[in-house]
Amino acid sequence: MSVVPPISICTWQFEQANLTAGRLLENGYPALDAVIAGASVEEQNLKNTTVGKGGDTDREGNVSLDACVMNHDGDCGAVVCVSNTSHVSALARKVMEETPHVMLAGAGAEEFAIKMGFTDEQLVTPIAKKAYQKWLKSPEYKPIINIENHDTIGLLALDQNGHMAGACSTSGLSYKMKGRVGDSPIIGSGLFIDSEVGGAAATGMGEEIMKTTGSFLIVELMRNGLSPQEACEEAVKRIVRKNDKFRDFQIAYIAMDFKGNTGTYCIHPGFNMMHYQNTKNEIIKANSFLKN
Ligand code: ASP
Repeated sequence: MSVVPPISICTWQFEQANLTAGRLLENGYPALDAVIAGASVEEQNLKNTTVGKGGDTDREGNVSLDACVMNHDGDCGAVVCVSNTSHVSALARKVMEETPHVMLAGAGAEEFAIKMGFTDEQLVTPIAKKAYQKWLKSPEYKPIINIENHDTIGLLALDQNGHMAGACSTSGLSYKMKGRVGDSPIIGSGLFIDSEVGGAAATGMGEEIMKTTGSFLIVELMRNGLSPQEACEEAVKRIVRKNDKFRDFQIAYIAMDFKGNTGTYCIHPGFNMMHYQNTKNEIIKANSFLKN
């Protein structure tokens, strides 16, 4: 049994998602069940235009989803470019548990979903279709900072047995190119967990997170003695040092070690992390590299 009460953290102000995960942990569920149930809240939330069903489309009017999961043993699974089910975290778990592989993409992932009993769904909602038609009038690709097109859900949970698991789920950047995949489903970029250290998850401009394998970097910095907070700060600063256009995009990280210490940091103000422990689901305002 862990001496630390169960803890769940997640990116952005996904209160219901984090509450769902936290309560499951308190009821003795394993961390992996908790993070997938939490991610599922947003995957099914039609008002969320950045995760799951209801997500914004790509430049061709299709919704394509990416997700990954990882546990304390280092087992992981991921799916990318999925357009026939919103339950992509659960599908990533199936890849982890039912196949010899880590990642399935596109048609292969979709066929696997059907084989695993997932219902074939239409992911483009009337609202997303309308937004796409509006976007087509001046089809410029310009990521917006802290607006809904940067709202990937990344969750980390530490359960009553002291095991950690994580999930990361997204519809990616709004109006991305067909086939574009960001950091979120990439193990080490959008999510990473190591049983000797802890875990980290990312949100924001996926291309920049991938260039520094952000979540893996944070876990390795923690292994070398940095606190989760210090590690998140260093990972953001590394991007800032390497890219003089850092003002044009947002990056945000969350991290947790096995003692239950957590951290979060971002480039632009406006990012929040949710933190659930001892029945309290709190919004933590992340410190940022830029002050306004
Ligand atoms: N990281 C995601 C991606 O690049 C986007 C986001 O977090 O909003 O696909």
